[in-house]
Amino acid sequence: MALTRRLPVISDRPLAKAGLKSERVLWPARGPGVFEQEVASIEDALGLTTVGKAVAWAQSSSVWPDTFGLACCAIEMMSIVSSRYDIARFGMERFSSSPRQADLLIVSGRVTHKMAAPLRQVYDQMLEPKWVIAMGACASSGGMFNNYTVLQGVDKIVPVDIHVPGCPPRPEALMEGIIRLHEKIRAGVPPAYEIRGVAQ
Ligand code: SF4
Repeated sequence: MALTRRLPVISDRPLAKAGLKSERVLWPARGPGVFEQEVASIEDALGLTTVGKAVAWAQSSSVWPDTFGLACCAIEMMSIVSSRYDIARFGMERFSSSPRQADLLIVSGRVTHKMAAPLRQVYDQMLEPKWVIAMGACASSGGMFNNYTVLQGVDKIVPVDIHVPGCPPRPEALMEGIIRLHEKIRAGVPPAYEIRGVAQ
């Protein structure tokens, strides 16, 4: 289910209160203006870019996942390397269990309190920049296991960039989450640990 963020009414927005009546303030979901579109098309036509954009493109096209399969969701995660889903299309075929050569942690399945410390250790061993996907209801919120043994959401111990809903999410849903992560990286959105200011 797509989550929609409710925008504050115009009168609540500080810039609108100050009397600014630009389209950006009155119509924030409008998208890029004509000038911005023209600049983007000129950049595309001439092949111009910036170092930041080139690095972001390279990073998004070579994300190496570290697996952290803990339960039933892991079976769905494993299948994304198969020929049917073929994660190698995104430069992600190196699906390893070596945190020092990985920059994406896919947590799939329920995390018990006993596994929380090893999971955090694996995360700490990954080099920056690094990202985390919480795959499935259990990793995202504890799922149906609302009890004393299961961590109620992996974001209590590591900063999560993408939550993939479902029980279990199909491989297509995980691919959707991965593509959304690529879009965030290319758009220059910082990793979750920078946004939350935690977990170096
Ligand atoms: S979300 Fe569902 S499929 Fe995934 S680990 Fe939990 S119970 Fe298993």
